[in-house]
Amino acid sequence: MSSENSDKLPEFKFSLSGQQARELPMGWAKQATVTDFPVSKNIAGVLMELKPNGLRELHWHANAAEWGFVISGNVRTTIIDPQGRYETNEFKEGDIWYFPRGHGHSIEGLGPDGTTFMLVFDNGAFSEFATFSITDWLSQTPVEIVSKNLQTDAVDLNNLPDKEVYIAEIKEKIESKKLDSTPLTHKYSLLSQIPLRDCDGGKLWIASSEEFPISTTMTGGILVLNPGALRELHWHPNADEWLYVISGKIRLTVFASSGLSSVVELSENEIGYTPMGYGHSIENTGDSDCRLLIVFNSGTYEEISLSSWLSSNPDELVSANLNLPRDIVKKFPKKEAFILSGNKK
Ligand code: MN
Ligand code: MN
Repeated sequence: MSSENSDKLPEFKFSLSGQQARELPMGWAKQATVTDFPVSKNIAGVLMELKPNGLRELHWHANAAEWGFVISGNVRTTIIDPQGRYETNEFKEGDIWYFPRGHGHSIEGLGPDGTTFMLVFDNGAFSEFATFSITDWLSQTPVEIVSKNLQTDAVDLNNLPDKEVYIAEIKEKIESKKLDSTPLTHKYSLLSQIPLRDCDGGKLWIASSEEFPISTTMTGGILVLNPGALRELHWHPNADEWLYVISGKIRLTVFASSGLSSVVELSENEIGYTPMGYGHSIENTGDSDCRLLIVFNSGTYEEISLSSWLSSNPDELVSANLNLPRDIVKKFPKKEAFILSGNKK
């Protein structure tokens, strides 16, 4: 690719490794927002680790819904909705959660090892470090108000934190009883399901609002590609795609129309971004399986693949359009390939 070409496009790649973590005794968080990663206007990501008993405190988000994927360990969440309905859930590796915008929640690392998870938000301008945390709120409110609200003498509230705690420590064991009064669950065990696509070269698990009804504004999943496998050229008519490399090495191609394109090499702990409608492909360039977290800012999963598009048109049309003989066009896949195996035919 010419440098003249790539100068006109934003960076489609961002590394979390270079990001400063917000670090506390019971955990840390690193984020990728539109401020650091300008192309990611509609989706932001936060990688977080919590030690056992580390509590990402009670908080809400004013400008984004939260979609979480458990990379490792065990987690417990609490959530309340505007109707006063609530849910407590426990999660393991491969499970996801969805918290609608503005709903109050907390996230707790459980034993034995705590947890690492990725949070994805449907707004690039989201900041994990400007959330509405309960300790920040109560410390900013006149003590007479807090005292009246909590029906407690002000003197008994002396130990209330005087600023945001962000990650607290739980010192007493919490009874792990499941509380639930919400009509729709906030939890979905993604990797316990049958993959949406199971091809020779890899698999895709997806949770859209069809599989996970509460997730009305986001769809997310895991894509595994075997070495050399290609997630074929395709585009998403209705959503941006945010991608995080959990393990492995990939090459992402992004086509931006008007003779503009970019080829991006990504490895572990890096994020790739494809704006809505841009053509793209993903190839595993490493020697082991790659595991990718893929999230869209729509509750509906939509895609159109090159092979299904071409095979739905008359060979004569494709032959004329691509300036290729018909006997060559006849060899193209006759239906959507989705993932092409790295092994030669
Ligand atoms: Mn949150
Ligand atoms: Mn895609």
